[in-house]
Amino acid sequence: MTGSIAGLERFDSPGKGRGLRVTRPFKVGELLFSSPAYAHVLSLKERGCYCEFCFTRKEGLARCGKCKKAFYCNVKCQKGDWSMHKLECSAMTAFGENWGPSEMSRLMARILAKKKSQKERSASEKILLIGEMQSHVEDVDNERREMNEVDIAALHRFYSKHLEMPDHKDLLTLFSQVACNGFTIEDDELSHMGTAVYPDVALINHSCLPSVIVTYNGTAAEVRAVQDMKPGDEVLISYIDLLYPTEDRNDRLRESYYFTCDCQECKSKSKDGAKLKVRKQSDPIEQEVVSNMMRYARKTIREFRALKHVKTPSELLDVCEHSLEKMGGVFDDSNVYMLHMMYQAMGICIHMQDAGGAVAYGEKILKPYTQLYPPYSLNVASMYLKLGRLYMGLDRHSMGISAFKKAMAIMEVAHGKDHVYLADLRKDMAQK
Ligand SMILES: [Zn+2]
Ligand SMILES: [Zn+2]
Ligand SMILES: [Zn+2]
Repeated sequence: MTGSIAGLERFDSPGKGRGLRVTRPFKVGELLFSSPAYAHVLSLKERGCYCEFCFTRKEGLARCGKCKKAFYCNVKCQKGDWSMHKLECSAMTAFGENWGPSEMSRLMARILAKKKSQKERSASEKILLIGEMQSHVEDVDNERREMNEVDIAALHRFYSKHLEMPDHKDLLTLFSQVACNGFTIEDDELSHMGTAVYPDVALINHSCLPSVIVTYNGTAAEVRAVQDMKPGDEVLISYIDLLYPTEDRNDRLRESYYFTCDCQECKSKSKDGAKLKVRKQSDPIEQEVVSNMMRYARKTIREFRALKHVKTPSELLDVCEHSLEKMGGVFDDSNVYMLHMMYQAMGICIHMQDAGGAVAYGEKILKPYTQLYPPYSLNVASMYLKLGRLYMGLDRHSMGISAFKKAMAIMEVAHGKDHVYLADLRKDMAQK
């Protein structure tokens, strides 16, 4: 551990390298530990909604007087953030429209600034925490390699005034470490707020049957048990979306994290049948037809990701509806590829302020979600929340309250009973 945390210890996990395990029992919902961010960055699209320093969401945040682009709760937060914000404040003004580092470059600049300031402090302090993180420089594929080069060029271009740049090889190592060990900070509806590094949380290995869940309280990561744990049990989180069948999960793990999972679910594949459910017909659908449709589904999901940046919402909705119609000839409505495209369609409807359309998709998604995800899933909680908010907007209050209650039952375990999300929800419900 970077510091010692009561009830937890590092150990060598067979076949996985370092890992983390508990030395005392933990009950479902109990906090294992909370970890401050080593470095964090708020997404550009969320500027003005959250304080750049503490990630508090509120109206009427105060603007940085110099760049007029960063927003804070108050002077205290602004001062607290200055050592990081100064990396960008004058550069944003100087480059104007041409200022455009990726979120990864922005985070990296902050990590480099942090490393520098730690080196300058007393030698007894824990320095270069991040040096312990796993790196996979040699495994990086061409696409990622190109992205890294673009990000490194951006670092030199936009940040060199404030930072001494390590040499190219060290930067590549650092990018590879952060790609594997960085965390996306998400809000209660799982929309992306920012990116951060938590060296302690990065020690936790993956399982598709996780024993803990990570949520965010401001910029801190909190790790809570979602299974009862006994001394000696390894702490395991999921690195990926657990909706998908075993083969897809492992493709994703190999692509992003360079390993294959051998958890109980990956061995038994117990949920794959339900996840890939085929439509019931009097004449069973041939295996070849099913295989072809799975190929089509995976290709559509991949292509849709790229289309998101170039097509209008209504064009995207057409793509969703077309693919759902085509897949629906073979797949059951609860098939994960159907759910994936319905989820996309729901997001587009919300974006287009078509609450009725969004509810129709959400209602179809919800039940299979509760069956296919493990217990206490943030994906399920966020779906209840989204639906609840849509119902409230449509004046269907009792439906809304009931969805909120279901979301809260999960969030009380995952986020803790006192989290601001729960306090806000209780307030909303009391008002109706
Ligand atoms: Zn603040
Ligand atoms: Zn500024
Ligand atoms: Zn697994």
